Amino acid sequence: MKIISTVDELKNYLKGVDGSIGFVPTMGALHDGHLSLIKKAKEQNSFVVVSIFVNPTQFLAGEDLDQYPRKDEADKKICQLAGVDVVFFPTPDEIYSVDEVSLQAPHIRGYVLEGMTRPGHFSGVLTVVNKLLNIVNPTRAYFGKKDAQQLNLITLMVKQLFMDVEIVPVDTVRESDGLALSSRNVYLTKEQRAEALKISSSLYEASKMVSQGILDVSKIKEEMLKILEGLEIGYVEILNRNFEVIKEVEVTQSIVLVEVLIGETRLLDNIWL
Ligand code: AMP
Repeated sequence: MKIISTVDELKNYLKGVDGSIGFVPTMGALHDGHLSLIKKAKEQNSFVVVSIFVNPTQFLAGEDLDQYPRKDEADKKICQLAGVDVVFFPTPDEIYSVDEVSLQAPHIRGYVLEGMTRPGHFSGVLTVVNKLLNIVNPTRAYFGKKDAQQLNLITLMVKQLFMDVEIVPVDTVRESDGLALSSRNVYLTKEQRAEALKISSSLYEASKMVSQGILDVSKIKEEMLKILEGLEIGYVEILNRNFEVIKEVEVTQSIVLVEVLIGETRLLDNIWL
C-alpha cells in the first residue's frame, strides 16, 4: 500500500494505473461503516484509493474541527488490511490555497435539514469532493447512505457538472443494538450512548408503521417524537428521495431523517423506506 500526501504525486502515480479506480473519501477515524465502502470499492474496481482528510471548510466556526478524532496510524493499518492500494493523506494547505474558488450548494436541497442547522456545511462538502474527484479521477466513488443529504447533493453535483464518475451509495452500517456507526460516537459517554439508541428506535418505529400501512407523515413523526423525547432535536423529517416535503410516505421513494444533539455531539441517522 502506498501513502501519498501531495496532489502531484498522487496524479502522477495514478497515471500508471490500468483498469477501474474506486475512490472512498473519508475524514478518517475509520470504522466498519468506512470499511463497507472500501469493501464495495474493492469488489467493483481493480484499484482502490482512500482519502483521509478532515476538511476544514465543512466545519462551522465553533464546531469540532480541532477535536475531530484523528487516528492516522490506526487508519493506515485498517486500509492496509483491507487491501487498499493508495491512501491519500493531504494537508489542508495541499488542498486549499489563499484565494479560493468554491462551490455553493443549491438553496433548496442544501439549506434545509443539516444545511439549515449547519449553514455553509454542504458548500464545504461539495467543494472538497469536487477537488478530490478532480485529483483522483476515479471510475466510481463511494458514499454512505447515512449522510443521505450529502449523497443527494454529490449525486446532483456530478450530474450537473457533467463529471465522468459513477456515485455508488452504500447502506448504513450499525452496531448490533442499532446505533449507526460514526466517528463522532467516541464523544459519547455511556449514558449518552444509551440515549442515542432512541434515534434508531424512532426510525425502526417509522418503518414499522409504514409496513402496517400507516403512511401519514405527521402521524409517523408524532410517534417518532415521543420516542425521541428528552433529546435535543435538530430535525425529524420524512421526505421523498429528492428531499422534497411529502404528506404521505411513498413506499420505496421516501427517507426518514433524524438529527439530534446529545451534549455537544451531533448525530445523524436515517432510514430509506
Ligand atoms: P466521514 O469520514 O464521516 O466523512 O465518512 C466518510 C464516508 O463514510 C461518507 O460517505 C459517509 O457517509 C460514510 N459513512 C459514515 N458512517 C457510515 C456508516 N455507519 N455506514 C456506512 N457508511 C458510513
